[in-house]
Amino acid sequence: MILPPATLGMLGGGQLGRFFVMAAHELGYRVMVLDPDPHSPAGRIADHHLAAAYEDTQALALMAQQCAAVTTEFENVPADTLAYLSKFIPVRPGAEAVAICQNRMAEKGFLRDQGLPHAPYAEIHDEADLSKADAALFPGILKVARFGYDGKGQARVANRQEALAAFRQFHGEACVLEHMLSLDYEVSVVLARDENGKVECFPTAENSHSRGILDVSIVPASTSADLAGEAEELAARIATGMDYIGTLAVEFFVCKGRLYINEMAPRPHNSGHYTLDACVTNQFEQQVRALCGLPLGSPRARSGAAMVNLLGDLWFQHDPHHAREPDWAKLHTVPNLKLHLYGKHHARPGRKMGHFTVVGDDPAQVRQIALEARRAIG
Ligand code: ADP
Ligand code: MG
Repeated sequence: MILPPATLGMLGGGQLGRFFVMAAHELGYRVMVLDPDPHSPAGRIADHHLAAAYEDTQALALMAQQCAAVTTEFENVPADTLAYLSKFIPVRPGAEAVAICQNRMAEKGFLRDQGLPHAPYAEIHDEADLSKADAALFPGILKVARFGYDGKGQARVANRQEALAAFRQFHGEACVLEHMLSLDYEVSVVLARDENGKVECFPTAENSHSRGILDVSIVPASTSADLAGEAEELAARIATGMDYIGTLAVEFFVCKGRLYINEMAPRPHNSGHYTLDACVTNQFEQQVRALCGLPLGSPRARSGAAMVNLLGDLWFQHDPHHAREPDWAKLHTVPNLKLHLYGKHHARPGRKMGHFTVVGDDPAQVRQIALEARRAIG
C-alpha cells in the first residue's frame, strides 16, 4: 500500500486531474501534475506542476524519482511515456489498457475478441477498404481511430460516396466505419478495479448529448434494473479482460432494449461527476484508492441525481463577442444543488467550464430542476 504523505503522479492537468488532486489531498497525499499548459486546472492546485511536454525526458525522470505511482486523466498520453515511467514506478492503468482505449480500432478489436456486443463496423485504412465495406454498414458513422473526442473527428455518412468524401476530409487517416444504430438512449458505467481484481461499479447513468458533447446525466437511469445490472456486468468484464487497475468508464448504446458497447475511457468520466455529490465514495477517490492499493470505497448512491454541464457557450448567451459570467448568485438559491467550477480563466464555446449536480430521489424531477436552473442563469 502506498500511504501518505507519498507523492502521486498525474499525467494531464484538466478538470479530471483537478478532481483527482482534490481527492488525493483529502486522503493526505501530495500530487505532481505533468501538463504543458502553465495554467492547467489541476496544475494550479497541485503540490508540484511540471509544465512540460508529455515526452520531456527530464520531466519524466523527475516524476519517476519523486512519485510513488502515476496515473492519467486523458487517454492520449504517448505510449512511450507510460512505458518509460513503468520501468521505475507503478503506472495504473497500464500501458496496454490505455493503448486499447486510445485507438478505436484496437478498442473494437478487443470487444470483438472478448465476444462483447458492439455496433457492426469495418476497419478503414485506405479507400479500397471503403469500396469493399459491407453495404449493410450504411447509413454509418465514420470515426478517426485516434484523437477524436466530444464528437470531433467523426462524420455521419448516408452512403459509400459520402464516406469517401469524409475519409478524404480526414486526410486518409485510419478510421472505423460503424453502422448507425437507432438509439433508444445512452447509458454509461463508471467502475473501479483494484490490484486484486475486485470491481466496484457505480450505478449506471443515463446520458443525453448536445452537439456531440455530454449535456445531462441522470441516476438512476430510466432503464430497467435488469438492463442497468447487465451494463455493470459488461463493464466489469471489460475491466477484467484488460487486467485494468484504476477508474474506468464504459459508454453504451441502448437500441431496441439491447446494450451495445460504444467506447471506453481509461480514467474517470464526465458522466461519473454525479458521484462527487451523490455517492459514498466518488470516482476520483476510487482512482486514488486503486492507484495506491487501498481497499476500494463503497460506490453506493445515497440518492438520485442529475448532473448538467456548463459549457463556455453559457458565457456568450447575451453577446457572442463578450463573455459574461452566468448569474451564480441565482444558482446558489436552488436547494440541493452543488456547483463545481474548474477554474478555467477563459470561456470558449464548447469548452467545459464546470458542472452542477442536483440531488434528489426522483431523477426526472431533479433533471427538470437542473435544466431550469441552467436556463435561468444564462
Ligand atoms: P466521442 O469520443 O466523441 O465521445 P462517440 O463514439 O462516443 O465519440 O460518439 C459521440 C456520440 O455520437 C455518441 O454518444 C452517440 O450519441 C453518437 N454515436 C456515435 N456512434 C454512433 C452509432 N454507431 N450509432 C448511433 N449513434 C452514434
Ligand atoms: Mg463518447
